[in-house]
Amino acid sequence: MRRHRSAKIVATLGPASSTKERIRELADAGADVFRFNFSHGSHADHAARFQIVREVEAERGRPIGVILDLQGPKLRVARFADGKVILKRGDPFRLDLDPAPGDASRVNLPHPEIFRVLRPEQELLLDDGKIRLRVLRCGADFAETEVQAGGTLSDRKGVNVPNAVLPISALTDKDRADLSFGLELGVDWVALSFVQRPDDLAEARRLIAGRAAVMAKLEKPSAIDRLEEIIELSDGIMVARGDLGVEMPPEVVPGLQKRIIRAARSSGKPVIVATQMLESMIAAPAPTRAEASDVATAIYDGADAVMLSAESASGAYPVEAVTIMDRIITQVERDELYRSYLDAFHAQAEHTQADAITLAAGLVAHTMSCAAIVTYTTSGATALRASRERPDTPILGLITRMVTARKLTLAWGVHPVFTEDAKDLDEMVGKARSIAKAEGFAQPGSSIVITAGLPFGTPGATNLLRLAWVT
Ligand code: PGA
Ligand code: MN
Repeated sequence: MRRHRSAKIVATLGPASSTKERIRELADAGADVFRFNFSHGSHADHAARFQIVREVEAERGRPIGVILDLQGPKLRVARFADGKVILKRGDPFRLDLDPAPGDASRVNLPHPEIFRVLRPEQELLLDDGKIRLRVLRCGADFAETEVQAGGTLSDRKGVNVPNAVLPISALTDKDRADLSFGLELGVDWVALSFVQRPDDLAEARRLIAGRAAVMAKLEKPSAIDRLEEIIELSDGIMVARGDLGVEMPPEVVPGLQKRIIRAARSSGKPVIVATQMLESMIAAPAPTRAEASDVATAIYDGADAVMLSAESASGAYPVEAVTIMDRIITQVERDELYRSYLDAFHAQAEHTQADAITLAAGLVAHTMSCAAIVTYTTSGATALRASRERPDTPILGLITRMVTARKLTLAWGVHPVFTEDAKDLDEMVGKARSIAKAEGFAQPGSSIVITAGLPFGTPGATNLLRLAWVT
């Protein structure tokens, strides 16, 4: 199952994609990584889907990545006596800690920590920003607001407090329980929602303790303010445009997307562009032109992956959505302009053995029109450095740890293969040749570039570049 494209597809699993047949179809159509969204579904639902993903992985003989997406401190109003109310512009509306059901004059907001940071004049955004409230007066257990933009507000709708750093951890009690459950299952990535500051990553890293890679979802203005530090502490990044576009005006999201992709590419950390990419395909078998253009833009920007949310989790056309994404990516990558866009931004190589060898490998592969850059990697670091170069030759990552192979399913241009390490140089070349052939990259007569570290099996020792012919 070799893909003929470099950028990857992440598909969220949900009620519309829970059977083995459907998950197999999604993988075959092009989903490289599955996202488990812990804002929805029970542990039993997730465990069942996880089991199926691993079965499909074994059937297809290709590693499949799994991202556990933690809900994070998503703030919500409590319930209304009638399930919903209608708020009109200019109306007063009170938020408080009283658990009594709400009405048109007030509702419970069961988050004491918000009241601690609220100030008069601050804006609160409800239901993805559809409703806006301005704080007039506030105290330790209430806020009196005026409705700026009205509408229907129903039970448990989300609340965003832009322009405030909330004194809350990125991990709630639910997240901690979900995290230990997910790590027990064996997820490859953990995505943290509503990261506000670098400390949030540090805390998650302590808990995860190397058992999975850590992804920061960028959806808060305060995280954008500290973008470089947050990327530094993360293994991967998600441009979470849903909440980002609520917390910040929509017109700044496109520029931020480009800035985040560039910063992540500079650090060689995989970056996903997420949310509403093919939104209309929740209910329609074909995307709008604007959606096709949005997916294409993320690919021209050099993102590692594009993501489907409700389109694959609960929509009516999950397989069609993956198929369309696959077609758009393939088409963009065939465009001559794509190469020139990618080459317009190239992060400098660092003064490390891995970067020196990797840079040279890309150049040799290009000069010799090699069929693949074959990278022996244990931690995955060398394959990620190779991916960071965005070479015009596919990267075949030969990986001695299954967790690393699965983690690299997200990385641009990397085709991860789980295999044992070579014992000597002859075996190194022999294995590279036979795997490049077996995986559909090389044919007799093709050349390949191999990078590895001597002595074999030492992580971080990449120091060897070999050009070889496939027989
Ligand atoms: P969510 O994150 O789907 O978990 O909210 C993505 C986003 O906000 O874009
Ligand atoms: Mn979000």
